[in-house]
Amino acid sequence: MAVYDLVIIGAGPGGLACAIKAVELGLNYALLEKGARPFQGIVDSYPKGKKVFPTIPKDETGPYPIPGLEPGAEHPPIEEYLETIEKCIARHRIDVTLMEEFQELAREQGQFVVVTRTGRYKTRNVVLAFGSNVPIDLGVYGEAKTIARTLGNPEDHIGAPTLVLGGGNAAADVVSTLSKAKRAQNDDTPVYWGHRKEHFKIDKDVARDLGEEILLGGHIKILQGAVPKIGEVDQDGVERLIIQTQQIPLQQGVQLQQGMSFPMRNVIACIGTQAPAAVFDRLGLQQITCTEGVCRIGKEGAKLIMLTRHFETTSKGIYAIGGAVSPVFMLIEEEGTLKERKHSNLIFSAVRDGVVVAEHIAGKMSIG
Ligand SMILES: Cc1cc2nc3c(=O)[nH]c(=O)nc-3n(C[C@H](O)[C@H](O)[C@H](O)COP(=O)(O)OP(=O)(O)OC[C@H]3O[C@@H](n4cnc5c(N)ncnc54)[C@H](O)[C@@H]3O)c2cc1C
Repeated sequence: MAVYDLVIIGAGPGGLACAIKAVELGLNYALLEKGARPFQGIVDSYPKGKKVFPTIPKDETGPYPIPGLEPGAEHPPIEEYLETIEKCIARHRIDVTLMEEFQELAREQGQFVVVTRTGRYKTRNVVLAFGSNVPIDLGVYGEAKTIARTLGNPEDHIGAPTLVLGGGNAAADVVSTLSKAKRAQNDDTPVYWGHRKEHFKIDKDVARDLGEEILLGGHIKILQGAVPKIGEVDQDGVERLIIQTQQIPLQQGVQLQQGMSFPMRNVIACIGTQAPAAVFDRLGLQQITCTEGVCRIGKEGAKLIMLTRHFETTSKGIYAIGGAVSPVFMLIEEEGTLKERKHSNLIFSAVRDGVVVAEHIAGKMSIG
């Protein structure tokens, strides 16, 4: 069996950037993707027609480390961006092994064996670039499994009010895409945008897009402090989600609660994903659990993976990058101390991480 210099798991922006840099540096690699095409994670999670922004995190400066992976300044729709990516793959002659889902990692004589559903790959280094695709639980009483996590086809929501839950960029994108689709069809049913907190947290580019949509007549209704509460089946057999929109304290512990109920087929919960802590645990990679006083960015109870500045885990030769380590990880500093490090879940960050890892592996191998 051939021994690779690196096996990259996941052909999203991070994995692809790592492979492109590996080729440039003369490393031999395998790039494994569980889906039927490269960027499957993005194909599955972006709504049709969504604009792709080349956002650079606040604490970073450009340019994009691999220019061919940068979404253009004119914010191309996702379909156009994916075509650019296909061309970039062809230009760099990158080999992507599709329908190859990573399952286990074994160690044999100082090397790794990556086990997938159908194959085994021997390698000196492993790059975990599988994104952050573990959905966060909605946390309601009752069943809410039929609620969509992404906007599939906006046409499915024409003619009925839709509720989009979530306070970040993904929710904002879905709200403006849906509103645009409804406007194009002269459908005046509203898009409700609900978030459990008072403040929404979105990037400038996304805010500009949403503002433009509102000015053009988009029928968007904002629900601050909207908390999903109960999933239930009504008397007509329709699965519904009940959200609490207001809570007014009356006397002697009595509360007046106001809420709304939506058929689950018209609810999209863009409430994010969590870092794949369970997979890291299974692979025996060291993580730190956030407790009060330890973490300032990570939420209480969240597990933060420990990484060097080259994204190497505490298991030498195993790296983790991109969405898989967002929104925060524990940086192992040179002197061995740990520091919580914010990591924006953006295409730019994933691409930058992939390049850093390929360069680090090439550097180690030239010394060895
Ligand atoms: C709705 C939405 C809109 C966004 N808009 C923007 C934007 O406009 N601009 C921007 O910069 N960022 C945007 N982002 C964030 C951006 O998409 C991510 O930061 C980026 O995709 C992360 O890249 P990645 O390579 O780490 O992971 P991913 O893109 O998730 O890629 C991981 C790949 O690994 C594969 N995979 C998963 N598990 C396995 C396995 N077991 N075996 C093999 N393969 C596996 C997946 O199929 C996937 O193709 C958006 C995100 C969402 C959800």
